[in-house]
Amino acid sequence: MGDSSNLPLHVVQAYKGKQACPLGFFKVSVGHDPCLPCPAHSHAPLPGSHECVCQNRYYRSPMDNSDAPCTGIPSAPRDLSYEIVGSNVLLTWRLPKDLGGRKDIFFNVICKVCPAGSSGPCVRCGDRVQFEPRQVGLTESRVQVSNLLAHVQYSFEIQAVNLVTELSPEAPHYATINVSTSQTVPSAVPMMHQVSRTTSSITLSWPQPDQPNGIILDYQLRYFDKAEDEDNSFILTSETNMATISNLTPGKIYAFQVRARTAVGYGPYSGKMYFQTLMGGERSDMVQDRLPLIVGSALGGLAFLVIAAISILAIIFKSKRRETPYTDRLQQYISARGLGVKYYIDPSTYEDPSEAIREFAKEIDVSFIKIEEVIGSGEFGQVCFGRLKHPGKREYTVAIKTLKSGYTDEQWREFLSEASIMGQFEHPNVIHLEGVVTKNRPVMIVTEFMENGSLDSFLRQKEGQFSVLQLVGMLRGIAAGMRYLSDMNYVHRDLAARNILVNSNLVCKVSDFGLSRFLEDDASNPTYTGALGCKIPIRWSAPEAIQYRKFTSSSDVWSYGIVMWEVMSYGERPYWDMSNQDVINAIDQDYRLPPPPDCPTVLHLLMLDCWQKERVQRPRFEQIVSALDKMIRKPSALKATGTGSNRPPQPLLSNCPPDFPSLSNAHEWLDAIKMGRYKENFDQAGLITFDVISRMTLEDIQRIGITLVGHQKKILNSIQLMRVYLNQLEPVEV
Ligand code: AMP
Repeated sequence: MGDSSNLPLHVVQAYKGKQACPLGFFKVSVGHDPCLPCPAHSHAPLPGSHECVCQNRYYRSPMDNSDAPCTGIPSAPRDLSYEIVGSNVLLTWRLPKDLGGRKDIFFNVICKVCPAGSSGPCVRCGDRVQFEPRQVGLTESRVQVSNLLAHVQYSFEIQAVNLVTELSPEAPHYATINVSTSQTVPSAVPMMHQVSRTTSSITLSWPQPDQPNGIILDYQLRYFDKAEDEDNSFILTSETNMATISNLTPGKIYAFQVRARTAVGYGPYSGKMYFQTLMGGERSDMVQDRLPLIVGSALGGLAFLVIAAISILAIIFKSKRRETPYTDRLQQYISARGLGVKYYIDPSTYEDPSEAIREFAKEIDVSFIKIEEVIGSGEFGQVCFGRLKHPGKREYTVAIKTLKSGYTDEQWREFLSEASIMGQFEHPNVIHLEGVVTKNRPVMIVTEFMENGSLDSFLRQKEGQFSVLQLVGMLRGIAAGMRYLSDMNYVHRDLAARNILVNSNLVCKVSDFGLSRFLEDDASNPTYTGALGCKIPIRWSAPEAIQYRKFTSSSDVWSYGIVMWEVMSYGERPYWDMSNQDVINAIDQDYRLPPPPDCPTVLHLLMLDCWQKERVQRPRFEQIVSALDKMIRKPSALKATGTGSNRPPQPLLSNCPPDFPSLSNAHEWLDAIKMGRYKENFDQAGLITFDVISRMTLEDIQRIGITLVGHQKKILNSIQLMRVYLNQLEPVEV
């Protein structure tokens, strides 16, 4: 506040009384109080001011008094540094040099993932990354960042803000640091299994972390009584991936977590899993008793652990189905708290495939099924519409897939493997398995009936008949089904509109869990291309899946982006009539599909996110579901259509090509795409025929003197389509 005591006496006297204050002075109220000089960074440009206004770039926060000095935003934090602690990154910094004249100071953290080899802009990290104590509004000069991926380049920005930052048009000042997680600790152990238990002990085993990032030296197990404080936990070290925890209390539920250690340090703890000791008098639940196959094998050996892990999981599923009191109760307890971790088991890991069928699919008495009509044909036989009625229950409409007679053992196995997979899933957006018929012929797989059949043909029949919100609702359903499958650790590998089924309420369900199409040597089906055993649906597949068979939930996300495009274009074929090789080349050169007609910009931006070249930069299904939910809650976001403008330039394929058959030379073509000004460039380089032009690359276009990036893209787009046209003339798959 201004203080008159230091002013010369004559000045104070002059401005006492009812006289108006002069320039540079103020007085809060009319009266005999003295006029005071304006506080720091403020001025009184008119005589008789009641308060001094802030100078440019200085502000008073709403909490400041009107006679307080004006203040500015802080400068950037200083000396930002990092330390890798386990698999976390600890960021620390010093206060900014200039606090803007204020005492309040806060920090916000922005996390970005950067592509390898600095080949593009960094993008914001997903919400999987966690910040301790928080990400925004930090009062201390440190933050711990966890859940980072290994072998990824991160960039962290620490913004300094204060209570006037919001009033300033200037962006907050920040410091940046790049952190590579290459030298990293093991990833989290994905799960734990109970091998056996007694009234006072529990034996657990667990698989290696997905990314050991070095040789695992040992594991640390942490456990505590679920009813007690987490701080009262016990620690136990084990050199193998198995441990017996003794001295426990009978009938108590304990929480367990495990982490692996390499020379670099400990990885993060696994999620908590709960196991209960036997009540006094209960029979032991020894897994070894139930595994005659592995009795006699080297106990503690890796093979044992892998088989045990799989079998125990199978037993957990089986027990749940057979409603044993223990697993059922525990399962209910775990699921009720959302803590359950349920993983999909690959039926091919069963030595005897019929064991997997028994495990995961209910045998249906054939007399309960009534086949009414053939509705399609699958890979192994007819698909029929029918009815299923269990005695004393209501009748359901069902789809029945049959296995044609004369099948080989291999075909029998492949056919039923779909049921073994489907039977493990239970989600409103995943097709539901009613059961199988294996004891009669034909062998059948019985699923819920989806009245509108597969999504691609359904949309083609209904072109233009749905609102954008209805289409987004369908996409939301598919994303929710895929979120569930990826949470189960299931990678679909063939997500496409043809493999989504639609019921009468427009609910979309993910289906088609068979893998046989990747194996079958069927040259007549061009959707699946590649050598025997490695057939791939090129147009739907991520580049890493095509190049080196890397199938993950992130490659499923790429395919999901293509499904979004199929839905928004009412079943158009992705990349139209381009050859598979042209699609691969175009993707490699960073071309992406343009928005379908009338497609909201936000949806196209989401598609482009799904088609990020680096798979770590693609969103996870979880994020896709919440992005779609936001659009559904706020449909005004779906109003804007066309290509997103707030995105780094991304060359797009055009879906309105010039009419090539009507063009006879390069000049006509350049005129048709409004690039006639470059005729001379083409002539001088001897680029006359479509055949030669169609082989041009971006470098060639630059070399003939076309410097404007927009024009380069336009010409390259059209050349891409020219290739399609030429391929049509000579139908040769490149
Ligand atoms: P698939 O062998 O699974 O590709 O099935 C072949 C065709 O049968 C599909 O394209 C659908 O048109 C139809 N179909 C398969 N399952 C169902 C179902 N649950 N409800 C209705 N139609 C189905």
